Amino acid sequence: MARLIEDAHGWVPGLYRRHLSTGRATLGEMFGGQVEVESAGCWLRTSDGRRFLNVGGYGVFLMGARHPTVVAAVQRQLHTHPTASRLFLEPRVALAAEALLGVCPPGLERVHFSGSGAEAVEAAIKMARTHGRRRLISMENGYHGKTLGALSVTAREVFQAPFRPLLPDVTHVPFGDVTALAAVLAYLGEEACVLAEPVQGEAGVIIPPEGYLRDVAALCRAHGAFFVLDEVQTGLGRLGSWWGADREGVTPDVLLAGKGLSGGVVPVAATIATSQAFGVFDRDPFLHTSTFSGSPLAMAAVTGAIQAITEDDLVRRSAALGDRLLPELDRIVRAHLGDLVSAVRGVGLLIGVEFAEPGVAGELLIELVQHGVIANHSLNAGSVLRLTPPALLTDSDLEFLLDAVDRASASTARCYPAALRGPAHA
Ligand code: PLP
Repeated sequence: MARLIEDAHGWVPGLYRRHLSTGRATLGEMFGGQVEVESAGCWLRTSDGRRFLNVGGYGVFLMGARHPTVVAAVQRQLHTHPTASRLFLEPRVALAAEALLGVCPPGLERVHFSGSGAEAVEAAIKMARTHGRRRLISMENGYHGKTLGALSVTAREVFQAPFRPLLPDVTHVPFGDVTALAAVLAYLGEEACVLAEPVQGEAGVIIPPEGYLRDVAALCRAHGAFFVLDEVQTGLGRLGSWWGADREGVTPDVLLAGKGLSGGVVPVAATIATSQAFGVFDRDPFLHTSTFSGSPLAMAAVTGAIQAITEDDLVRRSAALGDRLLPELDRIVRAHLGDLVSAVRGVGLLIGVEFAEPGVAGELLIELVQHGVIANHSLNAGSVLRLTPPALLTDSDLEFLLDAVDRASASTARCYPAALRGPAHA
């Protein structure tokens, strides 16, 4: 019997249970059993015809879904040469590298493309090792992905425990604490590779003190350590600047990009390095390879995405929209949830709402879905609801979002005793 996409909510959960993951199917039910089938710009549609404003998507959709510039570039490539022989040279990867490096901090000159943020991290760890930097230092609650190497530096017990042993010689230090990092670097010195995010996304939008990245870069230089800046979530305009690195005028040895790098059309990530850091990767093209790395289809998407960010002025729009959204969100959630809200913080369009009680973030996430909005939970912080909206939100999208937050916060508030929300609510 033919399966109709319009009826997908009827048969997709069963196939998930049978062939994919029961846990994932159960999670889907928690969010109303919706099955998404189509997306355009800031919105997606489910099989029962409902529309949702997507301010989640784990930070992929700064330019919304199916940006016309990206789709046109990918379509052209699909009809000419989607995958290369890998024996000859090929223009799309060369053009994508040139376009990407053109918007990166000065001093970054080489790029290795891959398919996921975690793969970009793996390449960076291997690059560090080729320079003798075998001892990894990453930040507490940092998130770098879940392949074995990346998981070793993703400092979260619940994700690491079932898969040990992981990479040896990994130390975690508190994020934002330069003194703690200095102490570890003092004895690991030239053997160290430091991995950090400019703003920790999955940790719940943790913003370090001003000057932190500059201090980390200076410490790494002083101790001869390798510095990998993971901008898989923060890069390409999300923070209202091209990179978090730009906010502090820092050039790391290696910068990582992913998520929105292909405009959400093809899976792509990149390990972007100084010529010095790239080292052995430059001389031996077979040392670190993967079949679809730099495939013309993905590279057309990368070039299209960078063109779209530039032409649509998305970096500036991300900063401006973030400045408008943050105080409004703060006002609305506090009006309903009072003392249950412990912080509303953000940089550009990476915004977190932290709650004092466990469960409120999840409750609000579910309520938002009921009111037509998709947001994110945070993988390393259950108490933080995270918003990663497109920089293309119109005034009416913004109004829809704030109205949904208002009504969802009011419904969530009803689940908690008034006393927990503070004197104004008692
Ligand atoms: N690095 C950071 C900062 C991330 O936020 C993520 C994913 O959320 C990753 C790496 C891993 O990327 P991926 O899920 O594409 O492997």
